[in-house]
Amino acid sequence: MARILDGKAIAKQVKEELRQRVSQLRETGLVPKLVVVLVGDDAASASYVRSKSRAAQDVGIDAEVIRMPANIAEDELICVLERLNKDNAVHAVLVQLPLPAHLDTDRILMHVHPAKDVDGFHPVNIGRYATGTPLLWPCTTAGILEILERSEISITGRTAVIVGRSRIVGWPTAQLLLAHNATVIQCHRRTVNLREYTRQADILVAAAGQPSLIGPDDVKVGATVIDVGINRVEGQLVGDVDFAAVEEKVGAITPVPGGVGPLTVAMLMKNTVHLAEIQKRGKEGFR
Ligand code: NAD
Repeated sequence: MARILDGKAIAKQVKEELRQRVSQLRETGLVPKLVVVLVGDDAASASYVRSKSRAAQDVGIDAEVIRMPANIAEDELICVLERLNKDNAVHAVLVQLPLPAHLDTDRILMHVHPAKDVDGFHPVNIGRYATGTPLLWPCTTAGILEILERSEISITGRTAVIVGRSRIVGWPTAQLLLAHNATVIQCHRRTVNLREYTRQADILVAAAGQPSLIGPDDVKVGATVIDVGINRVEGQLVGDVDFAAVEEKVGAITPVPGGVGPLTVAMLMKNTVHLAEIQKRGKEGFR
């Protein structure tokens, strides 16, 4: 039976450490502040934003949610972001995705200042981690590293297979594992014979958004499986991995829920504190 990598417990530990770090910062007069911009009334987005606000409160980060109507004009939203960029009390800005279809997500994200881009989606930040000088890693990717490191699963020299190549999860995760000296194979929807690759993985990251994509025949004995997927099937949350069957064969596995998800939120807090500290030191190199 596999070791279950308990993301909830790891996230709790991360948040405890952050609580102490934030309380020390507050004593020096620095109150890390995160602003979440929520456009429209998508129920799932609203629920994610609520859990982010709760987590911020939990560690002592000041969190503000700016709610905008679904029909907001692109330039009006950009004005709000520009105002936040100039506000020295705001250290981290996040635009909750997905945005309504009439908004150009790429253009909007370009208007979050790279030094406040807590999600790490701005092209400057993508360029920084692609060139080996990351300011920070996107939250889910950073959470995956936290799980691996705190579970003492080594990365160097291992074969890591990532299923998915999105800007949010798959691609940055491949870059991060490469930066940590894994041999990386990146798979995607057009990959022919996916199994041929996933079976080589010492570390398999499933981030496709396809329930039951990874079954017991798709994994190597003893592998570490990180299931990023969040899918709703018959009212239940499941990942991309057929957990019950795969658990019998692999060495370690994250559950869904309770695996990567809690770490994503915890790393948003860690990234916020990191940005606040860097801005206080004036060393972010962007101004
Ligand atoms: P996305 O739709 O943007 O990207 C999915 C990627 O998977 C694409 O690159 C696609 O090519 C690949 N893919 C899809 N089907 C495939 C298949 N059959 N074989 C091989 N590759 C395939 O999604 P995303 O934003 O990257 O999110 C992926 C999943 O992770 C979703 O379920 C999402 O809900 C979840 N997610 C979870 C967290 C978390 O904190 N746990 C955070 C972000 C996203």
